[in-house]
Amino acid sequence: MRKIQVVAAITMLLVFACKPQEKIVIEKEIIQKEMAGHKKPKNVIFMVGDGMGLTQITAAMISNGYRLNFERFHSVGFHKSYSYDDLITDSAAGATAFSIGEKSYNAAIGVNKDTVAIRTLTEEAILQGYKTGVVVTSTIVHATPASFIAHNRHRNNYEEIAVDVANCNADILIGGGKKYFDRRKSDELNLVEKMKKDGYKVESFLDIDPEKATIPSGMKYALFTADDDPLPVAQGRTYLEPMTMATIKALDNTEKGFFLVVEGSQIDWGGHANNKNYVITELLDFDKTIGKVLDYIDANGETLLVITADHETGGMAINPGSNSDSLSISFATTHHSGTLIPVFAAGPGAELFQGIYENTSIYDKIRKALGWKEENQRIILDDRGTK
Ligand code: MG
Ligand code: ZN
Repeated sequence: MRKIQVVAAITMLLVFACKPQEKIVIEKEIIQKEMAGHKKPKNVIFMVGDGMGLTQITAAMISNGYRLNFERFHSVGFHKSYSYDDLITDSAAGATAFSIGEKSYNAAIGVNKDTVAIRTLTEEAILQGYKTGVVVTSTIVHATPASFIAHNRHRNNYEEIAVDVANCNADILIGGGKKYFDRRKSDELNLVEKMKKDGYKVESFLDIDPEKATIPSGMKYALFTADDDPLPVAQGRTYLEPMTMATIKALDNTEKGFFLVVEGSQIDWGGHANNKNYVITELLDFDKTIGKVLDYIDANGETLLVITADHETGGMAINPGSNSDSLSISFATTHHSGTLIPVFAAGPGAELFQGIYENTSIYDKIRKALGWKEENQRIILDDRGTK
């Protein structure tokens, strides 16, 4: 009883402390927020920082004068990253959870726990007439991008995955791995020629500096940024931000909208190498891209941006004795860890991503935000994962 009286007194004090004018402004803000929440996004940009846990973000923030573009998000949540068969997910099962909405086994690419291919968000977007794109700093056949545009029982089957990528019908594909398309070990297929026949303009690092490529409008486009893995930022790779923005510009020209997947792929590789500078430089490159994408989101007003990681890599920690000029970093492992993973969202539908939920819920939340029909979710395609 006494407690209730105290709470009531505090509430009264707060009410009277708030001037009427301020109250109106606050209520207006709440309503605007709720209305923004009910608005359906036209476009979705989904960004993955592979291996990006809270410590990776914090370390990059400290080394950048304690500021990052991540601070511009108001909707923040966490996802549970474990896979079907392991408390510690790999990037394949992690991205597959996002792309098909099911927990699968480590190494699964767009297939469920029984190796059955399930329609991905990118494929569903294509079917509905959205423009689609994938921009990554790994090879385009690597686990994270592959999980959106391919189906395979194992992530290491790069040449099989390349066949799916060449047939995926996405409008824009940017990443490394050219050798899996035109100098294959398992067969004589030239998938670059096939893609050209199918209407793609195909360019590579041999023709053009990937940072300076011009994406044609009204035409499918593939840019191979490397023969195998693209370079780390520290060795001169600079294309993520300019090519992400060029892709958005090229996709943003239809009534229907677009669905774009962007990956800062190598934050994970820095974690595996237990190399703090590798982690921080890759994270800052990703954050720079996020800043430009957020500028677009703010100006555009009808695009939902969701940013997360598949898992944390390295069990990274900032140790006592650190200061802003010199971080003392240690790693608990050269593999992934099992910690909760942050999710950041902006634009219409962003509030759906607050809270703590399964990684598979990201699939459901994106579909819900877009108003996609429930009967079209988790559609079984075929058994190509078992072949
Ligand atoms: Mg990846
Ligand atoms: Zn990894």
